[in-house]
Amino acid sequence: MGTGILYVVATPIGNLSDASPRSIEVLRGAAIVACEDTRTTRTLLARHGIGARTMALHAHNERAAAAKLLAALRDGKYVALVSDAGTPALSDPGALLVEAAHREGIRVVPVPGPSAAAAAFSAAGFAADRFLFAGFLPAARAARLKALEELDLPWPVIVYEAPHRIAETLEDLAQRFGPEREIVIARELTKKFEEVARLPLGKARAWLDAEPHRRQGEFVLVLAPGERRPPAEVDAGRVLDALLEALAPSEAARIAARITGIARGVLYRRALERRK
Ligand code: SAM
Repeated sequence: MGTGILYVVATPIGNLSDASPRSIEVLRGAAIVACEDTRTTRTLLARHGIGARTMALHAHNERAAAAKLLAALRDGKYVALVSDAGTPALSDPGALLVEAAHREGIRVVPVPGPSAAAAAFSAAGFAADRFLFAGFLPAARAARLKALEELDLPWPVIVYEAPHRIAETLEDLAQRFGPEREIVIARELTKKFEEVARLPLGKARAWLDAEPHRRQGEFVLVLAPGERRPPAEVDAGRVLDALLEALAPSEAARIAARITGIARGVLYRRALERRK
């Protein structure tokens, strides 16, 4: 018998009707369904009358669980990997098992479907040919502000946030990117109290406070793109001259290459000429 197949199956992020017919078919055919919380996944399985064997694979046992699942895959079994909600391995466990399967030559088949990031992006309305998925920002405020430094980009940035930090994060975003920059707040997507609001950061906190229930639930934020700035002009000659005051030509060329992006050999020749 050959090796089995690892199916990576996306599941609903709230509305159980978002499970695709193919995802249900794959879960029904799997010998083992690897899931974060067996109780959560059994709700989905029970709805479709699926009695598959479940095995917990979460952040705290991923390595040990992956070893057991690989043994089953080597044995020719079909394994379906799901997370509590959305797409596995996307701000969720699963990548370790998937990587191990690739290394062992086991076929990995994605069964695409819901993801909070894609759903929020699709409802945000920012026409962009790329975006950055930043996942969860650091929980500590100082680290979060530092992380925001790297997110001033000319394309949209998607952030996941927990309800107990949403107010603080919106304030930090307004402080860092200014009150005019737009944000899309997507909360409770596909669920009963779903809301998608697009507004300037300066009004985000008031929006959150307008209804007492708004701080609850699950959130995705999509930050509008920043201004596209032309790359700073670097004068290679001036960089070289400054470095040559303290360094030998080879060392000056090495560092100038890192600063300017110009080839080290070219800068070395220019350094020698400037030294003459
Ligand atoms: N793997 C999941 C996916 O594909 O979307 C994400 C898992 S991550 C642990 C959970 C985070 O996703 C939540 O804290 C929230 O930021 C976001 N999220 C999940 N479901 C959501 C929903 N229904 N509405 C808004 N955000 C959601």
